[in-house]
Amino acid sequence: SKTPVTVLGLGDMGTALARALLEGGHPTTVWNRTAAKAEALATEGALTAATAGEAVAASRLVVVCLLDYDSVRQVLSPLGEALAGRTVVNLTNGTPRQARDLAAWAAGHGAEYIDGGIMAVPPMIGTPAAFLLYSGSPAAFAAHRSVLDLFGESHHLGEDHGRAPLYDLALLSAMYGMFSGVLHAYALVRSDGVAAGDVAPLLGRWLTAMSGAVDGYAQRIDSGDHATGVVSTIAMQSAAFGNFTGSARDQGISPELIAPIGALMARRVAAGHGHEDLTGLVELLTA
Ligand code: NDP
Repeated sequence: SKTPVTVLGLGDMGTALARALLEGGHPTTVWNRTAAKAEALATEGALTAATAGEAVAASRLVVVCLLDYDSVRQVLSPLGEALAGRTVVNLTNGTPRQARDLAAWAAGHGAEYIDGGIMAVPPMIGTPAAFLLYSGSPAAFAAHRSVLDLFGESHHLGEDHGRAPLYDLALLSAMYGMFSGVLHAYALVRSDGVAAGDVAPLLGRWLTAMSGAVDGYAQRIDSGDHATGVVSTIAMQSAAFGNFTGSARDQGISPELIAPIGALMARRVAAGHGHEDLTGLVELLTA
């Protein structure tokens, strides 16, 4: 028989996680602050608990997916010793500091704690497209890995509980950079009467081509050598950047999503690094 699992939090993501557990054949106990959100899962075989305490008592493995760490604290704090001997896998978005603090709190209550980040949207859960990041006790992770693999491909990033949220926020930051550019691109073409859908195929192709830059960027950033083998100098890019803000101004759209990187390029060129790669901007961020 399969490991019983409890899921605390049945928002869009918690519901998808619970469904993956049910599909994997695990006895699944669910709890949500607003009880109505458990009804659909109950018809699919989930056991519903009236309180978080009751839900935690049902399983030694407890998956938490709430809005933020404040809600996690509100739900877990009153449970205290009820968590002793259990493993809490918290997939709520948070910072490395929040994860380390919660890990210390959990250890103080005798619970194993694994922090996680979900690199998927709810419909991707349980499909090959999803991957999840975990950090915390390697033994606790190994013990529950087969369950966690039901959500998506599992990546354990080490014992430091802050590691999974660190990677999670890094990946999501890059996503928001991309989305910012996409939104600006669509605003720009729309301002000239072109439908976003007309540009979408070429935009998708371009982003796919440019995503190939991440490895080369990493090499430059890790070596600190931003000057060797540069194909697109920052001086060239900075000179062209005036056209990005200029076209926005001419077409009457706000440059606010793309302007910050232009300002950083200008500063890097002014400091004498115009012959280098765009990767040199990282030095301005970390200085
Ligand atoms: P939702 O907004 O759909 O759900 C939020 C959940 O948190 C609900 O169950 C809500 O309960 C609960 N909640 C909020 N405040 C409290 C509180 N004070 N006490 C108890 N419960 C509370 O969010 P998602 O399910 O989409 O996201 C959950 C987590 O997963 C977030 O941290 C999010 O960043 C992360 N995530 C989400 C992704 C997504 O695409 N959806 C992708 C990757 C990560 P109630 O129903 O009672 O309001």
